[in-house]
Amino acid sequence: MVAPGHYEGRSGGALLAQASALLALSLAPGCGQDSPARPNVLLVVVDTLRRDHLGCYGYERPTSPTIDALAERSVRFDNAYTTAPWTSPAIASILTSLYPSAHNVVRGGAILPEKLTTLTETLSAHGYATGGVTSNWQTRKGSGFDQGFELYSDSQVKGTKHVSSPDVTSEALTMLDQLMVGGHPFFLSVLYFDPHCAYMRHPEYGFAAPPAGRIRGGEDMLELRSMMATMSPLEVQCLRDLYDEEIAFTDASFGRLLEGLDARGLAENTLILFMSDHGEEFLAHGWLGHTRNLYQDMVRVPLIVHDPRTDSRGRVEPTRVSLVSIAPTVLDLVGLDPSELGYSAPSLRPLLEGRSAGDAWPIYCEVDFIPVNAKHGNKRSRKRSILVGRHKLIRDDATDRFELYDVERDPLETEDLAASSPELVRELERALDRMSDRAARGAVATQQPVLSEKDIEVLRGLGYADR
Ligand SMILES: [Zn+2]
Repeated sequence: MVAPGHYEGRSGGALLAQASALLALSLAPGCGQDSPARPNVLLVVVDTLRRDHLGCYGYERPTSPTIDALAERSVRFDNAYTTAPWTSPAIASILTSLYPSAHNVVRGGAILPEKLTTLTETLSAHGYATGGVTSNWQTRKGSGFDQGFELYSDSQVKGTKHVSSPDVTSEALTMLDQLMVGGHPFFLSVLYFDPHCAYMRHPEYGFAAPPAGRIRGGEDMLELRSMMATMSPLEVQCLRDLYDEEIAFTDASFGRLLEGLDARGLAENTLILFMSDHGEEFLAHGWLGHTRNLYQDMVRVPLIVHDPRTDSRGRVEPTRVSLVSIAPTVLDLVGLDPSELGYSAPSLRPLLEGRSAGDAWPIYCEVDFIPVNAKHGNKRSRKRSILVGRHKLIRDDATDRFELYDVERDPLETEDLAASSPELVRELERALDRMSDRAARGAVATQQPVLSEKDIEVLRGLGYADR
């Protein structure tokens, strides 16, 4: 068991129970030595990457040549949604296929509970060599996000002003060489962080003008939020420009990772899943950064899946999908049966092969965030949203207020229809409540560590703690 309050790694009965469960899985039919060689898996998450700031999603500025080229030889999902508007709950959903109310990783610094079985652990139990490189403190060593990884590096977690993408790539390539030694297929997870605030300057891209107003680049999120009420359009544009330079800079490092894969002769047998955990707000709805809202600029994310075994060049898949499908999709693509392994979210494999995926799941997102050290209860953000057909309902559970948008006619969610369409609100509320019940099935207790002063300082820099 893991003591409540802090993470102690695996020990005792919990490890034994999980080990025997995983052994049973590895002895299941079809998983033995006779099974065909499984492909390698490369999972890449770029933190805080907005879908609409990428060329392959229609952005006019050249921020993403590597990602665009990958999309050209992949299936690009045009309507992929995260489950939550910040890193910990979103990545936990990617790794466990559970919604936040089930995995309960919903507070700054929260730990991914050891009793949950992650994609990493499942792949490891089926013979995969596993490695992870992260540059976000929330997924540092000891956060529980490292469970199942034989190799795990968080040496690039150095605060929000640290520029990490090139070193993340170098570490990932070194790790790749280590993972290849045993001759097993590998699962390599790489998390890039640079587009997350603070937005640092990369003048070689030339997107950002010289300092605009009070914005010079490198401000932390609390500094930026203190200017929010008086920020000029020029200053907001400068933030977007700096953010774009961070994207282009990260894209170049990601390019070097793909080149390294190629140089090692691995490209032909490696699945690549590329996505972001959530977007970023630039005051379109009165907020900067993330963690609080469920608008489209936050929850609609890029998702690109490359399977070298199939010819899916440049196909755009319009079906709405959720990142809770990532883990079952990976298992399905490597020849394991996700439903036998206990995953209930739909695999995207049929869509990747150009078939129908059956009944669509409604797109459901949730957030229950309170800044660490918050002195006011009103800083808690507790919201749920559901997207059915062309309408999206957002329920603010703290104030019992609703917002309703027609996201096809009004993709920027500027016109709230809740007051004029009470029938539709009621109908969607019923669907929302049904989905909430479903999402919370099998919920585990939240595992919140005791945060040190140093931890709180880190969270402050990230914009996740009050002063
Ligand atoms: Zn994030």
